[in-house]
Amino acid sequence: MPDTRYQPIDLHTHSTASDGQLTPIELVQLAHQEGVQMFALTDHDTTSGLKQARNTANSLGMTFINGCELSVAWKKIPLHMVALGFEEDCAIIGKWTKKNQTVRLERGRQIADLLSKKGLPDLFDKAIEEAGGSQLGRPHFAKVMVREGIVKDTNKAFDHYLNNKKLGQIRDVWPQLEEIMPELTASKCELVLAHPKRYPLTVTKLKSVLQDFSKLGGSAIEVASGNERPDHVRFLERLSREFGFKASVGSDYHGPFGPWTQVGRFTQVHEQEISPIWYQWQT
Ligand code: AMP
Ligand code: MN
Ligand code: MN
Ligand code: MN
Repeated sequence: MPDTRYQPIDLHTHSTASDGQLTPIELVQLAHQEGVQMFALTDHDTTSGLKQARNTANSLGMTFINGCELSVAWKKIPLHMVALGFEEDCAIIGKWTKKNQTVRLERGRQIADLLSKKGLPDLFDKAIEEAGGSQLGRPHFAKVMVREGIVKDTNKAFDHYLNNKKLGQIRDVWPQLEEIMPELTASKCELVLAHPKRYPLTVTKLKSVLQDFSKLGGSAIEVASGNERPDHVRFLERLSREFGFKASVGSDYHGPFGPWTQVGRFTQVHEQEISPIWYQWQT
């Protein structure tokens, strides 16, 4: 296990507004208890938790950054892009989160149909119920599959039914970088490529993504996401320098249950060797 340690900063987290387990308020309270001073809530394709999270953070004297983890695609490969520091009523973020929310519902229907073809019962309604008004995602299907006794745990659900390979063409539903980035850059927020080592990409392909991401106005990459391997952190720090990106960090915390590192914890980065994205927000 890499050495994840207490940090006063966390710029990548999830609440019940998407697939996290804690409400925005609970999450911010926990982050505060853990010593986080600068916090971003970055739910998948929604900003609905930001107001509550910000109010809580403000009352606790923390610095709060608006965030959102957008699902996007590069040449049909799904990627995650974290937008940070936009205005809460930003129309462009609003447009694309709304669009992706529709995609999430349609994709959910497609996933349920695919699973039915594989002999499972129709899980759509149960997944919607599991999501409980938050952004429907594969983790909700995974939880239903565990509850229904179809698989032992959510990891198995992903391995056997829900990973990108198993989804086939259904993975190709998200807006292309070329389509979404020119609009988002106009909103003057920071656009961060999330957890670059978590995609099924060779180093050559990853560099090709970074080149396109840079050309299209991407400003940063995450150099540590949760318990990232220390050699991967070094590699990502090198890439951030090579491409002139700022560096972002976060736990990608989803809740107390599961493989996630604690909120406010991620593998140590080398602050002297990167351009920390958080410097602009420090007071
Ligand atoms: P979606 O946003 O619907 O594409 O689902 C992706 C989310 O599923 C990620 O953000 C993680 O929270 C979760 N996830 C991905 N892989 C796994 C896994 N092997 N086990 C449990 N959760 C996972
Ligand atoms: Mn997630
Ligand atoms: Mn992600
Ligand atoms: Mn995330």
